[in-house]
Amino acid sequence: MESIERRFRHELRRELNMGRKNITIAVAISGGKDSSVLLYLLHRTLSKRKDVKIVAFTVDEGIKGYRPPGIQSAIRLCEKLGIEHRTMSFAEIHGTEMDIVVKSGNLEGSPCAYCGPMRRDLMNRMSIDFEADYVALGINLDDHVQSIMMNVLRGDYEKMLRMAPHDHVVDGLVPRITPLRKIYEKEVKLYAILAGIEHDDGWCPYSAEARRNRVRDLVNGLEEETPGTKIAIEGFFDKLRENSQVAGKFLETGKCEICGKPSSGKVCQSCLRAGKNNR
Ligand code: SF4
Repeated sequence: MESIERRFRHELRRELNMGRKNITIAVAISGGKDSSVLLYLLHRTLSKRKDVKIVAFTVDEGIKGYRPPGIQSAIRLCEKLGIEHRTMSFAEIHGTEMDIVVKSGNLEGSPCAYCGPMRRDLMNRMSIDFEADYVALGINLDDHVQSIMMNVLRGDYEKMLRMAPHDHVVDGLVPRITPLRKIYEKEVKLYAILAGIEHDDGWCPYSAEARRNRVRDLVNGLEEETPGTKIAIEGFFDKLRENSQVAGKFLETGKCEICGKPSSGKVCQSCLRAGKNNR
């Protein structure tokens, strides 16, 4: 547990400007182990600092049987830690829910390709509502390495370099931090159990994103053959970013014609996926 806490603090110091006064961090908490451990560790590390405010929110994608227990778990943890918590749903902002999107049968690609952009949009809205300086995401080492590798396999160099954590502020977008990204998924789970942190073990029924699952198996196989492979990939990513002009910055430089939010295209992925360009 001490090792995890030490690595967490080390990464937090890298990603957060600790010398800055009056910081608000909005934590995106799903109620699962990663985001619950993240909230717990942020609270444990920063709660004595009077000039740091931690708040939390949950995005409700509208996935029956999966999201409601996660929300309840998040609310209970926040109550225990004395942290303000809010919820925002796809239904209220995008006028649809993931169950409806999936049942429509009109999906081009995986459910996650729809859910991801809409979720990121809501996370940003919630963080702006809270006037947060950072939004903290519970992304562990395994998740982060899979995302790096998926961008490598797509040949998307710029997108890989622009992954969170962000050290750059773009008007209308709250920088994302990922202080768990050097901690193995197994360690996060173990920490949650040992520290008795409330969390939900539910699994999204739409999570079978074929490409990510293949990448997960590939990286896990390599890690088994050569322990430390995941840390090596993460270190390689850090070195590439240190030498890059675009690292840690957002892709979105223009404005979405529908919602006006920062976007890399004419219409942002969130409006596109919610079908708002057809209305
Ligand atoms: S697994 Fe995919 S569909 Fe399920 S909540 Fe995550 S991004 Fe959304």
